[in-house]
Amino acid sequence: MEALKQIMAQFNLDSSSHRREPLLKRMEVDASKNWDCKNCIGHCCTMISNSMKIDVLEAVEMYVYLHEKGRWNDQLKKELEENVKTYRLDYEIVLSRGQEFRRTYTCPFYQGHNLGCSIDSSFKPYGCLAFNPDKKGVSEWGHCSSRSSVMEKREDNFGKQETAFIKFLCKKLNLPLEKKPIPIALLNLHKAIES
Ligand code: SF4
Ligand code: SF4
Repeated sequence: MEALKQIMAQFNLDSSSHRREPLLKRMEVDASKNWDCKNCIGHCCTMISNSMKIDVLEAVEMYVYLHEKGRWNDQLKKELEENVKTYRLDYEIVLSRGQEFRRTYTCPFYQGHNLGCSIDSSFKPYGCLAFNPDKKGVSEWGHCSSRSSVMEKREDNFGKQETAFIKFLCKKLNLPLEKKPIPIALLNLHKAIES
């Protein structure tokens, strides 16, 4: 863990909360219009629609966060492994033209009815922060969308430093550059650090 933190410091990355700031600010604007998730059970975190994939930096930040909160333990590892098995996340299907079949899964950090996500906003995947309701009082699936222009702005501001870190770490730990579903990305990172 210390070695991982040292590598992050070496790259002089902006903090995880700063790099998520454009998305967090947009959420505040939406919330000021009551475009929030208070009436929803969190459809976007369940297998109804969740197919979130994260890069190595997002995995590192979530991994460090879970360690610092004392949540990375054998029980969590077992839950992540079961999640991978249940949703067959390690079985990739390539469709025509090299496109990958989009697998959905209930996120292992989804806490169920109205409790939402157990990961602090400053460490959540960017895509999770970007996906928000398009009107008041949403309770059903189909009334939310990704703030793609804000995602692009975030990428413009921080993409260069993030890509440099990702390329370095993937090479050093022999990890794939491609984004992976959350439980796979966390387990891959853990195995690479341990070995
Ligand atoms: S973004 Fe939409 S689907 Fe997801 S929790 Fe909020 S209201 Fe529900
Ligand atoms: S990390 Fe949180 S917001 Fe993202 S899919 Fe998982 S439970 Fe939902």
